[in-house]
Amino acid sequence: EDSQSAFMIEKPNMNFSDVGGMEREKQEIELKIIKPLQFPDLYKAYGKKAGGGILLYGPPGCGKTYLAKATAGQINAEFISVGIHDILDMWVGNSEKNLHALFELARQNKPCVLFFDEVDALGANRNTMKNNGSHLINQFLSEMDGITANNDDILIIGATNAPWHLDPAFRRPGRFDRIIFVEPPAQQGREEILKIHLKGKPVDDIDYTSIAKNTNGYSGADLKAIIDIATEDKLLEALQTGKPQPITQKDLLKASKNHKATTREW
Ligand code: ATP
Repeated sequence: EDSQSAFMIEKPNMNFSDVGGMEREKQEIELKIIKPLQFPDLYKAYGKKAGGGILLYGPPGCGKTYLAKATAGQINAEFISVGIHDILDMWVGNSEKNLHALFELARQNKPCVLFFDEVDALGANRNTMKNNGSHLINQFLSEMDGITANNDDILIIGATNAPWHLDPAFRRPGRFDRIIFVEPPAQQGREEILKIHLKGKPVDDIDYTSIAKNTNGYSGADLKAIIDIATEDKLLEALQTGKPQPITQKDLLKASKNHKATTREW
């Protein structure tokens, strides 16, 4: 069985400067997890324990995975991304051993950010989880505690759309004891996100502020989708006419009519 496909390891070539908005989130990550990793003795001297994980929560597409990856890039660390549902599906019957292998992989690739997506899948259903879910949860908790106790250079970040489903044992000190709400981007953030994703593309005559004003409720993923739509239209046009034209204000507005905000009802 190929347990490799349940996770992915990479050295990100991006950092906080590629993340639009999120000033508060970046600062929290900086102070609560990056600095303690860089200056563990200082934190200890002031009686602040380094280590522990953070939990990012919020509506889909607002950049939780993206922010976790940028955090790894920010400190030049490896990024290991794991979908909890994939683990559960794939490792039924053999999950404890494989979970240990995953944390071992993290230890062998320090410093790293170990990112768990959909963590609420752990413990929503301690009782209903197939194949001894309770055992898997306990194993997961003890692996996390091991990382904290050893002060390993491993940052554990979890993401969820439904933090209330997570087993409360995960929220204790040294585990996911910090929680950060990743909200849909405000106007300034939307403007930055548009600029980031249009960087390097041929553009002309774009009023970023005006588009940002007109896209209230759009997630980062929605804004990227608008740009992708406009880009594809322009590309098709260029193929037909043989004359490449830049992406304009009008193209983006048209694309935003065809792709509505997804975070409003969250
Ligand atoms: P889900 O809950 O669905 O997993 P998520 O919150 O993890 O969603 P991401 O997958 O991180 O969302 O975001 C999707 C994409 O949207 C990113 O790959 C990125 O291209 C874009 N994006 C989201 N937020 C931002 C941002 N603040 N700056 C730049 N790009 C962003």
